[in-house]
Formats: sequence, structure tokens, C-alpha cells
Amino acid sequence: AGQATSAEVVGALYAIADLLRDNEDELGRLDAIAGDGDHGRGMTRGSAAAVQAAESAAADGVGPAAVLLAAGDEWASKAGGTSGVLWGAALRSFGDLLPDDRPVTASDLAAGAEAALAAVQRLGRAELGDKTLVDALAPFADELRGAVDEGCGGAVAWRRAAAVATKAAAATADLRPRTGRARPLAERSVGTPDPGATSLALVLTRLAELLDD
Ligand code: ADP
Ligand code: MG
Ligand code: MG
Repeated sequence: AGQATSAEVVGALYAIADLLRDNEDELGRLDAIAGDGDHGRGMTRGSAAAVQAAESAAADGVGPAAVLLAAGDEWASKAGGTSGVLWGAALRSFGDLLPDDRPVTASDLAAGAEAALAAVQRLGRAELGDKTLVDALAPFADELRGAVDEGCGGAVAWRRAAAVATKAAAATADLRPRTGRARPLAERSVGTPDPGATSLALVLTRLAELLDD
């Protein structure tokens, strides 16, 4: 995947923030069906705050890992809501696995995704099938690891994993929420994909376009 510089991490966060702003209304609409309708707003706010924090960290001259730690902290504190806390933890954990002193390898990316999943599950306690973003993140991390172990480069592996995450996010439409704010209106959510799984798949797909082969 080449050398991740702090500037590349900031650029990726910019792309994520743009994407989420473009999808804010749609994500809000999805969350309004059985949740409280704020998922688009929260993701937009969190990612915008993450960009700001990342820019100022990068301007201080720190490496990509520290940039992601700063971004994760701000995302969690400014997004509001469950997904913001989980996204903040995911970014921090992913960042922890990025080397500051050598190029990022495909294996670093797989380890980062596994660490992000572990952090999300440690905090949120959701299992596969609970209709949360875990239903997109777990298959993503599995596919990424599998592709990397087969010898794929980071960009190819990420692209494959993002495609799996996109399918998995769409498939959450069939599920009933077993945790989170959508649980009381679980039946109403059947037929609609989970908002958090949907936004995660959008972001992972956008990141696939940014990675070099
Ligand atoms: P809130 O539910 O606090 O309003 P958001 O609307 O921003 O927060 O995010 C809702 C999304 O958060 C859900 O669609 C789901 O993907 C995710 N989520 C909720 N609870 C959990 C959990 N315990 N573990 C993982 N993801 C969760
Ligand atoms: Mg919500
Ligand atoms: Mg809310």
C-alpha cells in the first residue's frame, strides 16, 4: 500500500468527510425508520471534526498513527451518538497499528481492520447479526485478512473486502436490531439496511479508490 504519510491520512479523512456530507440526508432517512434520524448528521459532524484535528496534528509534524489518534478522539467527542464513539475508537485502534517509521504493508491494513473490529465489539458488545455496523466491519476484516494471506496487495485486498462489506451492509435489511436505539422499533426496520453498516460500507468503498496498487 506504499508509504502512508500524515498528509495522505489527512487527505483520506477529507474524502471521507466529503462523502459523508454528500450522504447525510440519505443516512438520516435510514436512521429515522427505526432510530432517531441523526446518523447522517452525526457522521458529518464527526468526520468534519476529525479532519480539523488531523490537519492540526499533521501541521505539528506527527506521523500517520498520531494523526489518526487525534482524528479519532475528535470524531468521538464531536459526533454525538453511539456511532461516533465507535468510529472514534475504530480510528484510534486502526491508527495504533500503523507504523510511523516504515511503509504501510497490506498486513498492517489487515491488522488495523481487526483491531478496529475488536475495539468496536469491546465497547459496543454487538455480535454478528445484531444489525449494527459490526455486520459490515466483521466480514470486511475477515475478507481483508483472507486476501492478504493469499498474497494480494493492500489495494486489491481492500477493494475485495470493501465489496464484501457493501453486500453485507445491504444484507442487514433482512435483520432485526438486537441492540442500539433501533431495537424498540425492530420490526419497522426490517426491509431497511442498518444505517451504521451502510455508512461504513460507503466509507470503505471510497477508501478503496484512494489506495494505490
Ligand atoms: P445513535 O443510535 O446514538 O443515534 P447513530 O444514529 O449515529 O447513533 O448510529 C446508529 C448506528 O450505530 C446503528 O445503525 C448501528 O450501526 C450502530 N450501533 C448502535 N449500537 C451499536 C453497538 N452496540 N455496536 C455496534 N454498532 C452499534
Ligand atoms: Mg441515530
Ligand atoms: Mg442519536
